[in-house]
Amino acid sequence: MGSAERFRAIVVDRETDAAGKPRLASALRELTLADLRTGDAAPDAAGAVELAVSYSSLNYKDGLAVAGKPGVTRSYPIVAGIDVVGTVVGSDDDRWAAGDRVLLNGGGASETRHGGYTARALIAGGSLVRVPDQLTDRRAAAIGTAGFTAMLSVLALERHGVSPTDGPVLVTGASGGVGSVAITLLARAGFEVTAVTGRAADNGEYLRSLGAAELLDRDEFAEVGKPLQSQRWAAAIDSVGGVPLANVLAQVRYGGVVAACGLAASPDLPTTVMPFILRAVSLVGVNSVEAPLALREQAWARLATDLDLDQLDAMTTQIGLADVFAAADDILAGRTRGRTVVAIG
Ligand code: NDP
Repeated sequence: MGSAERFRAIVVDRETDAAGKPRLASALRELTLADLRTGDAAPDAAGAVELAVSYSSLNYKDGLAVAGKPGVTRSYPIVAGIDVVGTVVGSDDDRWAAGDRVLLNGGGASETRHGGYTARALIAGGSLVRVPDQLTDRRAAAIGTAGFTAMLSVLALERHGVSPTDGPVLVTGASGGVGSVAITLLARAGFEVTAVTGRAADNGEYLRSLGAAELLDRDEFAEVGKPLQSQRWAAAIDSVGGVPLANVLAQVRYGGVVAACGLAASPDLPTTVMPFILRAVSLVGVNSVEAPLALREQAWARLATDLDLDQLDAMTTQIGLADVFAAADDILAGRTRGRTVVAIG
Protein backbone atom coordinates (compact mmCIF):
# COMPACT_ATOMS: atom_id res chain seq x y z
CA MET A 1 0.00 0.00 0.00
CA GLY A 2 1.33 3.45 -0.87
CA SER A 3 1.74 6.04 1.86
CA ALA A 4 -1.25 8.03 0.57
CA GLU A 5 -3.81 5.21 0.35
CA ARG A 6 -6.55 5.52 2.91
CA PHE A 7 -7.95 2.90 5.31
CA ARG A 8 -10.33 2.95 8.26
CA ALA A 9 -9.26 2.87 11.90
CA ILE A 10 -10.72 3.61 15.33
CA VAL A 11 -8.69 6.43 16.82
CA VAL A 12 -8.72 7.70 20.42
CA ASP A 13 -7.76 11.33 20.81
CA ARG A 14 -7.90 14.15 23.34
CA GLU A 15 -10.53 16.79 22.82
CA THR A 16 -12.30 19.53 24.74
CA ASP A 17 -15.96 19.19 25.71
CA ALA A 18 -18.58 21.95 25.51
CA ALA A 19 -17.68 23.13 29.02
CA GLY A 20 -14.02 23.46 28.02
CA LYS A 21 -12.92 20.38 29.97
CA PRO A 22 -10.43 17.93 28.42
CA ARG A 23 -11.72 14.43 27.64
CA LEU A 24 -10.88 11.37 25.56
CA ALA A 25 -13.05 10.46 22.57
CA SER A 26 -12.93 7.69 19.97
CA ALA A 27 -14.04 7.86 16.33
CA LEU A 28 -13.79 5.94 13.09
CA ARG A 29 -11.30 7.84 10.95
CA GLU A 30 -9.62 7.45 7.59
CA LEU A 31 -5.85 7.23 7.97
CA THR A 32 -2.82 6.72 5.77
CA LEU A 33 0.38 4.82 6.56
CA ALA A 34 2.03 8.21 6.93
CA ASP A 35 -0.36 8.92 9.84
CA LEU A 36 0.79 5.73 11.57
CA ARG A 37 4.44 6.66 11.09
CA THR A 38 4.16 10.03 12.80
CA GLY A 39 3.14 11.13 16.29
CA ASP A 40 3.70 9.77 19.79
CA ALA A 41 2.04 6.40 19.11
CA ALA A 42 4.16 5.59 16.03
CA PRO A 43 6.41 2.50 16.28
CA ASP A 44 10.16 3.00 16.45
CA ALA A 45 11.38 3.51 12.90
CA ALA A 46 13.79 0.56 13.10
CA GLY A 47 12.15 -2.87 13.02
CA ALA A 48 8.60 -1.85 12.17
CA VAL A 49 6.47 -4.45 10.38
CA GLU A 50 3.56 -3.45 8.13
CA LEU A 51 0.51 -5.68 8.46
CA ALA A 52 -2.70 -6.15 6.53
CA VAL A 53 -4.93 -6.66 9.57
CA SER A 54 -7.60 -9.35 9.25
CA TYR A 55 -9.09 -9.40 12.76
CA SER A 56 -8.84 -7.74 16.12
CA SER A 57 -10.98 -8.47 19.16
CA LEU A 58 -12.84 -6.83 21.99
CA ASN A 59 -11.45 -7.09 25.49
CA TYR A 60 -12.54 -5.30 28.67
CA LYS A 61 -9.61 -2.93 28.22
CA ASP A 62 -10.74 -2.14 24.67
CA GLY A 63 -14.11 -1.22 26.12
CA LEU A 64 -12.41 1.25 28.45
CA ALA A 65 -10.26 2.77 25.69
CA VAL A 66 -13.07 3.14 23.14
CA ALA A 67 -15.44 4.56 25.76
CA GLY A 68 -12.85 7.28 26.43
CA LYS A 69 -12.11 6.13 30.00
CA PRO A 70 -8.66 7.13 31.24
CA GLY A 71 -6.02 4.56 32.13
CA VAL A 72 -5.50 2.54 28.95
CA THR A 73 -4.42 4.97 26.20
CA ARG A 74 -1.43 7.16 27.05
CA SER A 75 -0.20 8.53 23.67
CA TYR A 76 -2.42 10.57 21.34
CA PRO A 77 -3.81 10.28 18.77
CA ILE A 78 -3.73 6.48 18.98
CA VAL A 79 -5.34 3.60 17.12
CA ALA A 80 -7.26 1.51 19.69
CA GLY A 81 -7.35 -2.30 19.87
CA ILE A 82 -4.99 -4.33 22.09
CA ASP A 83 -5.10 -7.35 19.76
CA VAL A 84 -3.81 -7.52 16.19
CA VAL A 85 -3.93 -10.48 13.79
CA GLY A 86 -2.84 -10.16 10.18
CA THR A 87 -0.37 -10.86 7.40
CA VAL A 88 2.97 -9.17 6.91
CA VAL A 89 3.09 -7.03 3.77
CA GLY A 90 6.44 -5.36 4.41
CA SER A 91 9.09 -5.65 7.11
CA ASP A 92 12.12 -3.76 8.40
CA ASP A 93 12.67 -6.61 10.85
CA ASP A 94 14.74 -9.59 9.62
CA ARG A 95 12.57 -12.02 11.60
CA TRP A 96 9.50 -11.33 9.45
CA ALA A 97 8.78 -11.45 5.72
CA ALA A 98 5.81 -10.72 3.47
CA GLY A 99 3.17 -13.43 3.79
CA ASP A 100 3.89 -14.37 7.43
CA ARG A 101 0.77 -14.64 9.57
CA VAL A 102 1.39 -12.89 12.88
CA LEU A 103 -0.38 -11.73 16.02
CA LEU A 104 0.14 -9.29 18.85
CA ASN A 105 -1.50 -9.22 22.27
CA GLY A 106 -0.82 -6.09 24.30
CA GLY A 107 2.84 -5.17 24.22
CA GLY A 108 1.82 -1.51 24.38
CA ALA A 109 -0.78 -1.67 21.59
CA SER A 110 -3.57 0.87 22.28
CA GLU A 111 -1.59 2.13 25.28
CA THR A 112 1.51 3.87 23.98
CA ARG A 113 1.58 2.44 20.42
CA HIS A 114 -1.04 2.11 17.69
CA GLY A 115 -3.21 -1.00 18.06
CA GLY A 116 -5.36 -3.30 15.96
CA TYR A 117 -8.63 -1.52 15.11
CA THR A 118 -7.28 -0.66 11.67
CA ALA A 119 -6.98 -2.26 8.24
CA ARG A 120 -3.24 -1.52 8.16
CA ALA A 121 -0.88 -1.59 11.13
CA LEU A 122 2.76 -0.81 11.80
CA ILE A 123 3.98 -2.95 14.69
CA ALA A 124 7.41 -3.43 16.27
CA GLY A 125 8.65 -6.82 15.00
CA GLY A 126 10.04 -7.84 18.39
CA SER A 127 6.59 -8.19 19.97
CA LEU A 128 4.96 -10.28 17.20
CA VAL A 129 4.21 -13.99 17.52
CA ARG A 130 3.65 -16.30 14.54
CA VAL A 131 0.03 -17.48 14.30
CA PRO A 132 0.20 -21.25 14.96
CA ASP A 133 -0.59 -23.32 11.83
CA GLN A 134 -3.52 -24.98 13.61
CA LEU A 135 -5.32 -21.63 14.02
CA THR A 136 -7.07 -19.45 11.46
CA ASP A 137 -6.67 -15.69 11.85
CA ARG A 138 -10.24 -15.50 13.14
CA ARG A 139 -9.62 -18.10 15.84
CA ALA A 140 -6.34 -16.43 16.84
CA ALA A 141 -8.28 -13.19 17.33
CA ALA A 142 -11.09 -15.01 19.12
CA ILE A 143 -8.48 -16.22 21.60
CA GLY A 144 -6.94 -12.75 21.74
CA THR A 145 -5.62 -11.14 24.90
CA ALA A 146 -8.37 -12.68 27.04
CA GLY A 147 -7.60 -16.24 25.92
CA PHE A 148 -3.86 -15.62 26.05
CA THR A 149 -4.28 -14.38 29.63
CA ALA A 150 -6.36 -17.43 30.52
CA MET A 151 -3.52 -19.61 29.19
CA LEU A 152 -0.93 -17.61 31.16
CA SER A 153 -3.07 -18.20 34.25
CA VAL A 154 -3.24 -21.96 33.60
CA LEU A 155 0.55 -22.00 33.11
CA ALA A 156 0.89 -20.20 36.47
CA LEU A 157 -1.15 -22.95 38.16
CA GLU A 158 0.97 -25.61 36.44
CA ARG A 159 4.19 -23.95 37.58
CA HIS A 160 2.80 -24.22 41.08
CA GLY A 161 2.31 -27.95 40.58
CA VAL A 162 -1.49 -28.06 40.67
CA SER A 163 -2.98 -31.20 39.11
CA PRO A 164 -6.57 -32.44 38.64
CA THR A 165 -6.24 -34.88 41.55
CA ASP A 166 -5.66 -31.97 43.97
CA GLY A 167 -9.32 -30.93 43.91
CA PRO A 168 -11.72 -28.47 42.27
CA VAL A 169 -10.55 -25.25 40.66
CA LEU A 170 -12.60 -22.05 40.86
CA VAL A 171 -12.96 -19.58 37.96
CA THR A 172 -14.48 -16.14 38.63
CA GLY A 173 -15.84 -13.78 35.97
CA ALA A 174 -16.94 -17.00 34.31
CA SER A 175 -19.01 -15.66 31.39
CA GLY A 176 -16.30 -13.19 30.36
CA GLY A 177 -13.51 -13.68 27.84
CA VAL A 178 -10.81 -14.71 30.31
CA GLY A 179 -13.24 -16.80 32.36
CA SER A 180 -14.75 -18.66 29.40
CA VAL A 181 -11.38 -19.66 27.94
CA ALA A 182 -10.03 -20.56 31.40
CA ILE A 183 -13.00 -22.90 32.02
CA THR A 184 -12.58 -24.74 28.73
CA LEU A 185 -8.79 -25.05 29.11
CA LEU A 186 -9.05 -26.37 32.68
CA ALA A 187 -11.91 -28.76 31.94
CA ARG A 188 -10.12 -30.23 28.93
CA ALA A 189 -7.02 -30.72 31.10
CA GLY A 190 -9.13 -32.84 33.44
CA PHE A 191 -9.81 -30.36 36.24
CA GLU A 192 -13.16 -30.21 38.01
CA VAL A 193 -14.16 -26.58 37.42
CA THR A 194 -16.53 -24.48 39.51
CA ALA A 195 -17.61 -21.28 37.76
CA VAL A 196 -18.63 -18.10 39.60
CA THR A 197 -21.12 -16.02 37.65
CA GLY A 198 -23.66 -13.28 38.15
CA ARG A 199 -25.65 -14.56 35.16
CA ALA A 200 -26.38 -18.22 35.90
CA ALA A 201 -29.95 -17.91 34.63
CA ASP A 202 -28.83 -16.73 31.19
CA ASN A 203 -25.43 -18.37 30.91
CA GLY A 204 -25.68 -21.52 33.03
CA GLU A 205 -26.10 -23.84 30.06
CA TYR A 206 -23.30 -22.07 28.20
CA LEU A 207 -20.89 -22.40 31.15
CA ARG A 208 -21.72 -26.07 31.57
CA SER A 209 -21.15 -26.62 27.84
CA LEU A 210 -17.64 -25.18 28.28
CA GLY A 211 -16.97 -27.73 31.01
CA ALA A 212 -18.04 -26.14 34.31
CA ALA A 213 -19.12 -28.93 36.67
CA GLU A 214 -20.70 -26.56 39.20
CA LEU A 215 -21.95 -22.97 39.18
CA LEU A 216 -21.90 -20.54 42.10
CA ASP A 217 -23.61 -17.18 42.25
CA ARG A 218 -21.35 -14.17 42.27
CA ASP A 219 -23.39 -12.81 45.23
CA GLU A 220 -21.92 -15.54 47.45
CA PHE A 221 -18.55 -13.81 47.08
CA ALA A 222 -19.71 -10.20 47.20
CA GLU A 223 -19.72 -9.52 50.97
CA VAL A 224 -16.59 -9.26 53.09
CA GLY A 225 -16.29 -12.66 54.81
CA LYS A 226 -14.08 -14.26 57.45
CA PRO A 227 -10.35 -14.19 56.68
CA LEU A 228 -10.33 -18.01 56.78
CA GLN A 229 -13.35 -19.94 55.50
CA SER A 230 -14.01 -23.62 54.65
CA GLN A 231 -11.19 -24.98 52.48
CA ARG A 232 -12.75 -25.74 49.12
CA TRP A 233 -10.49 -25.03 46.15
CA ALA A 234 -7.16 -26.48 45.08
CA ALA A 235 -6.62 -23.39 42.96
CA ALA A 236 -8.44 -20.48 41.34
CA ILE A 237 -8.23 -18.16 38.34
CA ASP A 238 -9.62 -14.76 39.23
CA SER A 239 -10.42 -11.99 36.76
CA VAL A 240 -12.55 -9.83 39.08
CA GLY A 241 -10.39 -8.78 42.08
CA GLY A 242 -11.96 -6.91 45.02
CA VAL A 243 -13.98 -8.57 47.78
CA PRO A 244 -14.62 -11.67 45.62
CA LEU A 245 -10.88 -12.32 45.37
CA ALA A 246 -10.51 -11.84 49.14
CA ASN A 247 -13.19 -14.50 49.69
CA VAL A 248 -11.57 -16.82 47.15
CA LEU A 249 -8.26 -16.55 49.00
CA ALA A 250 -10.06 -17.38 52.27
CA GLN A 251 -11.49 -20.57 50.70
CA VAL A 252 -8.39 -21.99 49.01
CA ARG A 253 -7.08 -25.21 50.50
CA TYR A 254 -3.74 -25.49 52.29
CA GLY A 255 -0.88 -24.96 49.79
CA GLY A 256 -3.19 -23.87 46.96
CA VAL A 257 -2.66 -21.08 44.46
CA VAL A 258 -4.70 -18.24 42.99
CA ALA A 259 -3.77 -16.64 39.66
CA ALA A 260 -5.03 -13.04 39.74
CA CYS A 261 -5.35 -11.38 36.37
CA GLY A 262 -8.24 -8.91 36.46
CA LEU A 263 -10.29 -6.27 38.21
CA ALA A 264 -13.79 -6.53 36.69
CA ALA A 265 -15.21 -6.06 40.22
CA SER A 266 -12.54 -3.80 41.75
CA PRO A 267 -8.81 -3.08 41.87
CA ASP A 268 -8.98 -3.28 45.69
CA LEU A 269 -8.01 -6.37 47.63
CA PRO A 270 -9.45 -6.19 51.18
CA THR A 271 -7.77 -9.31 52.52
CA THR A 272 -5.57 -10.31 55.47
CA VAL A 273 -2.32 -12.26 55.63
CA MET A 274 -4.16 -15.24 57.17
CA PRO A 275 -4.54 -17.34 53.98
CA PHE A 276 -0.84 -16.86 53.27
CA ILE A 277 0.62 -17.53 56.72
CA LEU A 278 -1.84 -20.12 58.04
CA ARG A 279 -2.66 -22.00 54.84
CA ALA A 280 0.44 -21.38 52.72
CA VAL A 281 -1.75 -20.06 49.92
CA SER A 282 0.06 -18.38 47.01
CA LEU A 283 -1.26 -15.41 45.08
CA VAL A 284 0.33 -15.19 41.63
CA GLY A 285 0.01 -12.13 39.41
CA VAL A 286 -0.61 -12.52 35.68
CA ASN A 287 0.29 -9.77 33.23
CA SER A 288 -0.23 -10.27 29.51
CA VAL A 289 0.87 -6.84 28.30
CA GLU A 290 4.54 -7.17 29.15
CA ALA A 291 4.88 -10.95 28.97
CA PRO A 292 8.32 -11.79 27.53
CA LEU A 293 8.41 -13.22 24.01
CA ALA A 294 9.43 -16.73 25.13
CA LEU A 295 6.39 -16.91 27.44
CA ARG A 296 4.12 -15.58 24.69
CA GLU A 297 5.34 -18.29 22.33
CA GLN A 298 4.93 -20.98 24.98
CA ALA A 299 1.36 -19.87 25.74
CA TRP A 300 0.39 -19.72 22.05
CA ALA A 301 1.90 -23.16 21.36
CA ARG A 302 -0.24 -24.55 24.18
CA LEU A 303 -3.35 -22.69 23.01
CA ALA A 304 -2.88 -24.24 19.55
CA THR A 305 -2.83 -27.78 20.94
CA ASP A 306 -4.96 -27.60 24.11
CA LEU A 307 -7.95 -25.45 23.22
CA ASP A 308 -11.12 -27.11 21.97
CA LEU A 309 -11.71 -25.13 18.77
CA ASP A 310 -15.40 -26.06 18.58
CA GLN A 311 -15.88 -24.58 22.03
CA LEU A 312 -13.88 -21.52 21.01
CA ASP A 313 -16.18 -21.05 18.01
CA ALA A 314 -19.23 -21.53 20.23
CA MET A 315 -18.12 -18.73 22.56
CA THR A 316 -17.26 -16.30 19.71
CA THR A 317 -19.39 -13.45 18.38
CA GLN A 318 -18.26 -11.51 15.30
CA ILE A 319 -18.71 -7.78 14.75
CA GLY A 320 -17.33 -5.17 12.33
CA LEU A 321 -15.24 -2.09 13.05
CA ALA A 322 -18.26 0.23 13.17
CA ASP A 323 -19.93 -2.04 15.78
CA VAL A 324 -17.07 -1.67 18.25
CA PHE A 325 -18.48 1.49 19.87
CA ALA A 326 -21.72 -0.17 21.00
CA ALA A 327 -19.89 -3.38 21.90
CA ALA A 328 -17.51 -1.35 24.10
CA ASP A 329 -20.46 -0.11 26.14
CA ASP A 330 -21.77 -3.68 26.35
CA ILE A 331 -18.54 -5.18 27.69
CA LEU A 332 -18.20 -2.44 30.32
CA ALA A 333 -21.80 -3.05 31.40
CA GLY A 334 -21.15 -6.82 31.66
CA ARG A 335 -23.58 -7.64 28.85
CA THR A 336 -21.18 -9.57 26.59
CA ARG A 337 -20.44 -13.28 26.83
CA GLY A 338 -17.31 -15.16 25.83
CA ARG A 339 -15.23 -13.58 23.10
CA THR A 340 -15.98 -10.97 20.43
CA VAL A 341 -13.86 -10.83 17.24
CA VAL A 342 -13.71 -7.69 15.14
CA ALA A 343 -13.54 -8.52 11.42
CA ILE A 344 -11.41 -5.96 9.60
CA GLY A 345 -9.72 -7.28 6.45
P1 NDP B 1 -15.18 -9.50 30.31
O1 NDP B 1 -15.98 -8.27 30.50
O2 NDP B 1 -15.35 -10.32 29.08
O3 NDP B 1 -15.46 -10.48 31.56
C1 NDP B 1 -15.55 -10.03 32.88
C2 NDP B 1 -16.58 -10.91 33.60
O4 NDP B 1 -16.49 -10.62 35.00
C3 NDP B 1 -18.02 -10.60 33.21
O5 NDP B 1 -18.44 -11.30 32.07
C4 NDP B 1 -18.77 -11.02 34.45
O6 NDP B 1 -18.96 -12.44 34.41
C5 NDP B 1 -17.78 -10.73 35.58
N1 NDP B 1 -18.06 -9.44 36.24
C6 NDP B 1 -18.34 -8.25 35.66
N2 NDP B 1 -18.54 -7.29 36.58
C7 NDP B 1 -18.40 -7.90 37.78
C8 NDP B 1 -18.49 -7.46 39.11
N3 NDP B 1 -18.80 -6.19 39.41
N4 NDP B 1 -18.29 -8.34 40.11
C9 NDP B 1 -17.98 -9.64 39.83
N5 NDP B 1 -17.87 -10.13 38.57
C10 NDP B 1 -18.08 -9.26 37.56
O7 NDP B 1 -13.67 -9.08 30.48
P2 NDP B 1 -12.33 -9.90 30.11
O8 NDP B 1 -12.57 -11.34 30.35
O9 NDP B 1 -11.81 -9.43 28.82
O10 NDP B 1 -11.37 -9.34 31.26
C11 NDP B 1 -11.63 -9.66 32.61
C12 NDP B 1 -10.70 -8.86 33.52
O11 NDP B 1 -9.38 -9.28 33.32
C13 NDP B 1 -10.73 -7.35 33.26
O12 NDP B 1 -10.59 -6.67 34.49
C14 NDP B 1 -9.51 -7.13 32.41
O13 NDP B 1 -9.01 -5.84 32.50
C15 NDP B 1 -8.57 -8.15 33.01
N6 NDP B 1 -7.53 -8.58 32.08
C16 NDP B 1 -6.24 -8.54 32.53
C17 NDP B 1 -5.23 -8.95 31.73
C18 NDP B 1 -3.85 -8.98 32.28
O14 NDP B 1 -2.89 -8.95 31.50
N7 NDP B 1 -3.68 -9.06 33.58
C19 NDP B 1 -5.46 -9.35 30.34
C20 NDP B 1 -6.87 -9.49 29.99
C21 NDP B 1 -7.86 -9.08 30.85
P3 NDP B 1 -20.35 -13.09 34.95
O15 NDP B 1 -21.46 -12.33 34.30
O16 NDP B 1 -20.28 -14.53 34.55
O17 NDP B 1 -20.34 -12.90 36.45
